[in-house]
Amino acid sequence: MANGMASYGLPCECGAEITVTAGQAGGRVTCPRCARGVAVPKLRDLATLVRSVPAAEPPGGTWRPAHAVTLLGAIVCATSLAAAAWLGRGPSAAVDERALRAAVMAADDMAVYRGWSGELARATVRRPPADQELAVLRQARFFGSLGRGLSVAAAAGFLAALAGGGMLMLGPRRPAAVEAGAPVGRQP
Ligand SMILES: [Zn+2]
Repeated sequence: MANGMASYGLPCECGAEITVTAGQAGGRVTCPRCARGVAVPKLRDLATLVRSVPAAEPPGGTWRPAHAVTLLGAIVCATSLAAAAWLGRGPSAAVDERALRAAVMAADDMAVYRGWSGELARATVRRPPADQELAVLRQARFFGSLGRGLSVAAAAGFLAALAGGGMLMLGPRRPAAVEAGAPVGRQP
C-alpha cells in the first residue's frame, strides 16, 4: 500500500465485487461478470467502501532473481547435457588416429621402416583424404568442439543453479528468533 493508489471493492447489482482504484473515483467501470456499467462513487464516498486487501506480495519477492538463476541454470545444464549425449552418437572420424597409431606401435621397427620406405610410401594410405572423408572428419571435429562447448555450458548452468540454490537457501531466511532460554545440555 506504499504506492498510494488504494483499491476498493465496488459491489455490482449482480453480486460481483468490482475492484476499483481511487483514480477511478467519479467514473464508470464495467462489471467483469455481467458487463453492466457501474458508477464509481466520488472519492470521499469511495472511502466508505470495503477496502480490498491488495494481493499479498509473494513472500520474499526480493529473491526472485535467485529463482530465475536457479531455474535457468538447471535448464541450461539439463539441455546441454542432453544435447551432448545426443551428439555423443554423432559421426566418428573417418580416420581413426588412435587405431592407426596402435597399428604402428604394434609393428616392429623393421616392419615400419620397410613400410615407409617401401610400398606404404606409395600406397593408398598416403593418398590425400577424399572429399567425403574430409567432410566427415570436419564434421567430427565440429561435433567434438560442440560437445566440449556443451560440457562447458552444462557446467556453467550447474554452477548457476548451485549459486541460485545457495541464494535461495541463504537469502530469504530471516534471522531466526533467538529463544531466550537456558543453554541446553549444560545440566549439572
Ligand atoms: Zn455485475
